Amino acid sequence: MTVEHHSLERDVDLAPMTTYKVGGRARWFAEPDGLEDLRSLLEATPPEMPVFVLGRGSNVVISDSGFDGLVIRLGRGFSAIDVRPDGMIVAGAGVSLPILARTAAAAGRSGLEFYIGIPGSVGGAIRMNAGGHGSDTAAVLEWALIFDLGTREVSRRNPADLALSYRHSNLTDTDVVLQATYTTGEIDPEDAESVLREITRWRKEHQPGGTLNAGSVFKNPEHDAAGAIIDRLGLKGYRIGPVAVSDVHANWMVATKDATASDIFAFVHRIQAIVASETGIVLEPEIRFVGSFDHGDTGESPS
Ligand SMILES: Cc1cc2nc3c(=O)[nH]c(=O)nc-3n(C[C@H](O)[C@H](O)[C@H](O)COP(=O)(O)OP(=O)(O)OC[C@H]3O[C@@H](n4cnc5c(N)ncnc54)[C@H](O)[C@@H]3O)c2cc1C
Repeated sequence: MTVEHHSLERDVDLAPMTTYKVGGRARWFAEPDGLEDLRSLLEATPPEMPVFVLGRGSNVVISDSGFDGLVIRLGRGFSAIDVRPDGMIVAGAGVSLPILARTAAAAGRSGLEFYIGIPGSVGGAIRMNAGGHGSDTAAVLEWALIFDLGTREVSRRNPADLALSYRHSNLTDTDVVLQATYTTGEIDPEDAESVLREITRWRKEHQPGGTLNAGSVFKNPEHDAAGAIIDRLGLKGYRIGPVAVSDVHANWMVATKDATASDIFAFVHRIQAIVASETGIVLEPEIRFVGSFDHGDTGESPS
């Protein structure tokens, strides 16, 4: 199958585009520069080709065999931040969350400070309803522009339309977040800066730095925390080869640079099985496995 578009590349290594730094190549890879470029890319793409939208790769594990289809990462045309006089902030879906947090703080706008420690993009944050420090994307999002890869139409959706709830949205792999508009409050930039410093300090103290990871691996079940459950089972520091439960935070599975995607997949599966057999609780992964893994599916989370 041949596909022609100015931004298309073949056999692109995806590992460096993710925080775990594992995984194989995308058969096709493109970074469209704007909506029209995205549309023309799709015109050139056979309809049957699987498409995956990659953000900053901070919540995914790409299979060692890569992705047999088209991986789209939003390019420069999706990286603008506009702080409006009415306090709304409009950000392209490719914008990095820490940059958004810093820009808002410097402009004297409050509400987005919690993004400082989340190394994802605006698009990924909406898909995952990313959150922390008592807030989440649903609490600050006014609306998002969503492009449907099937119909090629753009819709404007608010948090209720997106069904945003704890680490969940109703977006699917045929939806591309293009842009987000946030409601913010007023704050003295120096006060905002000290909130950012405090969050950063807290993260350094409570989360493992200097490791390969994708943040929390499992969603918290109702009325409990996945990390606390894993910790209670004495699994902090538990290791299989290059992957281990972090000593600092038991819901983080940290990898060394020798790890493969299969190692991480197997390890997450193993922890899930131990927790299920010891407690009856089936933890649901928050991270996404993309591509094919050992049990031969096309990439959803292990069950
Ligand atoms: C050190 C560390 C700390 C973290 N801390 C937190 C935290 O405190 N809170 C939290 O919620 N998460 C946290 N995470 C996880 C992660 O950063 C978030 O889930 C983030 O929102 C993922 O964004 P991303 O751009 O990296 O998405 P990716 O990992 O690239 O993709 C994740 C999902 O979003 C989809 N996606 C990405 N961009 C788009 C788009 N434009 N349109 C449609 N779909 C898209 C992908 O298809 C995929 O399904 C952490 C991760 C790390 C590594």
